[in-house]
Amino acid sequence: MKITQHISEAKETLFSFELLPPLKGENIQQIHGTVEQLLEFNPAFVDVTYHREEYLYREMTGGLLKKRTVRKRPGTVGICAAISHKYNLDTVPHIICGGFSKEETENALIDLDFVGVENVLVLRGDPIRGEGRFKGEADGHSYAIDLVNQVADMNRGKYLDSELKNSNATDFCIGVAGYPEKHFEAPNLSSDLRWLKRKVEDGAEYIITQMFFDNQAYFDFVSKCREHGIEIPIIPGLKPLTTKRQLTSLPQNFHVNMPDELVRMVENATSKEAVKEAGVAWCIRQAKELKAANVPVLHFYTMGKANPTAEIARAVF
Ligand code: FAD
Repeated sequence: MKITQHISEAKETLFSFELLPPLKGENIQQIHGTVEQLLEFNPAFVDVTYHREEYLYREMTGGLLKKRTVRKRPGTVGICAAISHKYNLDTVPHIICGGFSKEETENALIDLDFVGVENVLVLRGDPIRGEGRFKGEADGHSYAIDLVNQVADMNRGKYLDSELKNSNATDFCIGVAGYPEKHFEAPNLSSDLRWLKRKVEDGAEYIITQMFFDNQAYFDFVSKCREHGIEIPIIPGLKPLTTKRQLTSLPQNFHVNMPDELVRMVENATSKEAVKEAGVAWCIRQAKELKAANVPVLHFYTMGKANPTAEIARAVF
């Protein structure tokens, strides 16, 4: 079922979560374990991230460095198919511009359509680790909006080869990303919102937000989206903080702000367990307030760890 249908039929806030494919070489049991731990909370859908290639350098004799290109977490399409068939759950693969030609994207979308996936989250993707700026492929896309248009075209039966006859129109429900604290490259929030609105005009049907730790950032973002004429559902993304290191690594990697009170709670925690308790307690507070405000879905970034999300879901749903 499409995410938009889940939302329109729901009587109260839904639960969903995001999974990371395992590292190359690992098996799928860890994914099944996470899903099984969270099944009792009746997830409406499960997102599976996509990870582009990275460069690895190996030192050769004589000090020369040999560069290898590796995708450390392949398997997004396979995981989506496996989960939806084993647990009868709707899955949402992330599809990205980075590392993909338009034709490779088209072929991936055909695979997804054939395995019965009805939803995609369309993203640009981050720059390759170590490269300062995002570079699209020569025959690929540079912005998520271009990928939204490719999926929307396929939904109208329009493929890259305009001479294809009797082409099957896919029926993907398209989601996109939104940033309550603005995307880090955007000159300001209103410029970011103008591009977000364009993604909506071109076919996006719902938005999932970047993580945030201050609900006011989400509420303000929703108000500004509405002022800009963005009317589609805006799903808040939540990440329970679980280690002291995340006080700096999350702002560094995701460009988010940590409220003073949370910083103090984590700094004053005297053990790893106490830090985790503080992070989970904070996220429970966030989730309860958002649910009371009737958000459509509470979407959790599990980052491969089901326990904190299960604890929060138990307290909130
Ligand atoms: P875009 O919408 O393309 O925006 C990128 C920047 O360009 C913004 O600053 C925007 O304001 C600006 N902009 C947009 N369109 C234009 C245009 N036409 N001309 C000029 N400027 C423009 N990354 C992954 O690699 N894999 C994942 O699985 C993944 N999942 C994610 C899930 C969520 C919910 C979120 C919030 C992010 C996720 N990301 C993922 C990270 C995401 O790829 C990065 O944040 C990326 O830097 C931007 O992606 P976007 O789709 O928002 O890009």
